[in-house]
Amino acid sequence: MQLSRLLPAKGLSRNFLMQMSFPVFTQASRAMRNNVFYGVMALLLTACAVSPTGRKQLLLMNNQQINTMGVQAFNQLKQTKPIDQDPRTNTYVQCVAGAITSQLGGSRSPWEVRVFQDKSANAFALPGGKIGVNTGLFQVARNPDQLAAVIGHEIGHVLANHSNERTSQQVMVQGGLAAVDAFYGAKLGASHDAVMQGLGLGAEYGVLMPYSRTQESEADIIGLELMARAGFDPRQSLQLWQNMAASGGGQPPEFLSTHPGYDTRMRDLQANMGKAMQLYQAAQAQGRRPNCS
Ligand SMILES: [Zn+2]
Repeated sequence: MQLSRLLPAKGLSRNFLMQMSFPVFTQASRAMRNNVFYGVMALLLTACAVSPTGRKQLLLMNNQQINTMGVQAFNQLKQTKPIDQDPRTNTYVQCVAGAITSQLGGSRSPWEVRVFQDKSANAFALPGGKIGVNTGLFQVARNPDQLAAVIGHEIGHVLANHSNERTSQQVMVQGGLAAVDAFYGAKLGASHDAVMQGLGLGAEYGVLMPYSRTQESEADIIGLELMARAGFDPRQSLQLWQNMAASGGGQPPEFLSTHPGYDTRMRDLQANMGKAMQLYQAAQAQGRRPNCS
């Protein structure tokens, strides 16, 4: 797969829509073209959302659709990847993940957490409340706070609807007609592949395609706040990313290629550390001191 296909579509402007959709309708009447155009625009407007950091997003799937996709993907992974059954490892990861997900509130059902036997230092979270941690991650996330930094970051991707956003972009990029179908509530049909890739199931990358730099930065900021609220030391996120950078070429796709430059990531984390420390101290004062080992 070409990297360009993984990058977010920029500027979903009127011109972009004209290029994407209208060649398909060259035989259609002007009136029909206008109807389609304004229909797409109307649905685009209703599909616009704002991320937790205030960024505008294009979200074409509803929550139920994207959650179902996440659950299906996780079930597939559980059938194909060896699951680590070591009780100690599982208790440890459940402890860290549970402390973070307990801060999310709402009526969400408990998040399912699985540890996979895989040497790559990777982790992921999927819509529908699923978290996967590879055993290889423990080489770089060396204490509970650092593991919390990774899990917080991954849940940040979910909370900010990045799977939905990426899927929506894939649908827009890969097929004007399919996108129009999707807008009108028809089944996704031919754009199914685009949806699967957007969800992060590109076969070329195993589990997850890289997120964009913008999405990575957003997940960093959300993750930092989440770990701090849960009572984990947010300063350990800096050490985590240092460990990740030092691990060199073995970095998994989730943290590779489109991730923010190391210096940028550190600067952004440090810029948000003051607020995170306040949240951390408040959490500690309220007795949230996760004891995970
Ligand atoms: Zn990420």
